[in-house]
Amino acid sequence: MALREIRKDGDEILRKRAREVEKVDEKIATLIDDMIETMYKYDGVGLAAPQVGMLKRILVYDSDYVEDENNKNPRVLINPVIVKVSKKMATAEEGCLSYPDLYGYVDRPAKITVKAFDRNMKPVTIDAKDLEAVVIQHEIDHLDGIVFIDKAYNLHRGTQNEEEEKSQSKSKKKVK
Ligand SMILES: [Zn+2]
Repeated sequence: MALREIRKDGDEILRKRAREVEKVDEKIATLIDDMIETMYKYDGVGLAAPQVGMLKRILVYDSDYVEDENNKNPRVLINPVIVKVSKKMATAEEGCLSYPDLYGYVDRPAKITVKAFDRNMKPVTIDAKDLEAVVIQHEIDHLDGIVFIDKAYNLHRGTQNEEEEKSQSKSKKKVK
């Protein structure tokens, strides 16, 4: 496993559509392992392949990690498709490993159903809500060349407002 360089704001690869994965060969398996290592290294809760310069429809995330750093449970979604969204929306403060130090509020469906393949190319269906729903939607946007600053309002530099910081410093750190 190895760390991969995270592509940052201004890199045109972040604006391209990633391509479907047909099979998990050795190269893709290594990419997945590297993405997981890179995500944890930079304290992210999710990472999409274009963020490490690979235009493949792969994302990794661990939405439990923010609550328990000793309990790592990385998930891998290949060729994910959102098949159902709730009418109810939710707002979360988001950040992105490709836009360090930038945060903003994004409205997204509160609950989603996603169909994808796991790293063994077995089909999986995930019903997600709360942070998991936010992360998956944020990462799927990356696969389509969409980044959170396209959707965010009240974009601001630095961390969240101080009161939130004090009360929930880790769980509010929704860096992806
Ligand atoms: Zn991101």
